[in-house]
Amino acid sequence: MGKALIDGHGRRITYVRISVTDRCNLRCLYCMPEDQKFRPMAHLLSREEIRRTARLFADFGIEKIRITGGEPTTRPDLVGIVSDLAAIGFPGGIALSTNGVLFPRMAHDLLAAGLTKVNVSLDAAEAEHFRKMTRRDHFQPVLDSIALALSLPFDSVKINAVVIRGLNDDQILPLAAMTKDKKLGVRFIEFMPFGDNDWKETDWVGWSEVWDRLAASGYVLTPIEKTLVAGPADEYSVTSPAGVHTGSVGFITPVSDRFCDTCNRMRLTQDGFLKGCLFGHADVDLLKPMRAGATDEDLRVLVSRAAAIKEERHPMFVGMNKSTLPLHARNMSEIGG
Ligand code: SAM
Ligand code: SF4
Repeated sequence: MGKALIDGHGRRITYVRISVTDRCNLRCLYCMPEDQKFRPMAHLLSREEIRRTARLFADFGIEKIRITGGEPTTRPDLVGIVSDLAAIGFPGGIALSTNGVLFPRMAHDLLAAGLTKVNVSLDAAEAEHFRKMTRRDHFQPVLDSIALALSLPFDSVKINAVVIRGLNDDQILPLAAMTKDKKLGVRFIEFMPFGDNDWKETDWVGWSEVWDRLAASGYVLTPIEKTLVAGPADEYSVTSPAGVHTGSVGFITPVSDRFCDTCNRMRLTQDGFLKGCLFGHADVDLLKPMRAGATDEDLRVLVSRAAAIKEERHPMFVGMNKSTLPLHARNMSEIGG
């Protein structure tokens, strides 16, 4: 390992989320408009460019990589990308965020290639709610995907659910109940405003309301200690009137409880920008220099610069007004959630 990657605010970066595509086979209301325009394929990082950048990350002591998008499983060389990352070696593992639609076709190959953790987005435990949230009818394949992932020896399988009032807030309990007999983590994510989504304060459901609704139904949550390479979720073991749950419940609280002080992550967009903050504008282009013949040393300087200018905190807070936030022009799917 070379020098550790420390940002301009003294935080050590140990976790990089690599977006491998901006394309997707769902159109979740909160993430991507129906008519989303995609970048030309030639503007996306190639498998080799991802491998080269990941090697530099490993030299900087990055411990964990998450592959995200868009929908990573729409990329034909995904298994190859995972095996490249596994060959480089990241002690905190290689995780995948997926919507689960195509995952069953490649789950065994991804496991064999070295994937260690799987997060599936699922905002509803009922088909009709799923269709409303994703604008597509792929509920059953996603459920099958979760069952398959749980049957394979991944280190962890989690569900991510964005909660939106009036759309899926009645799914909080059914989703939490999925943890009863399965070693499944269900994490509730606060809805965040992006360029094209229709975020409204009145639709937003904070983590404490989710907590209260679980508590009102007899759920008791006990904190689970975080590791150094853990993501932003606060996770809890669960007991409910049904008994002790095998799985866990978690909250990702970017709006109501900013976790910026302990932020350990950066993001590589599918078109090769290294971003300090999901909502930041201080991005450093690695792809253009790479294609113009930059040496590894040149790229190391750029990675260090991206860390140095990483924003101290994002601009969201409870009671914010979307129209006055300095939001990124990109949607979540174009950044890599
Ligand atoms: N397609 C994959 C998936 O859905 O898991 C990976 C990419 S997706 C952009 C990554 C995560 O971002 C998902 O868990 C999704 O729910 C979350 N996400 C997207 N837009 C969001 C928003 N506006 N607020 C909160 N979370 C969001
Ligand atoms: Fe696609 Fe994931 Fe965005 Fe949904 S959240 S539109 S599945 S990228």
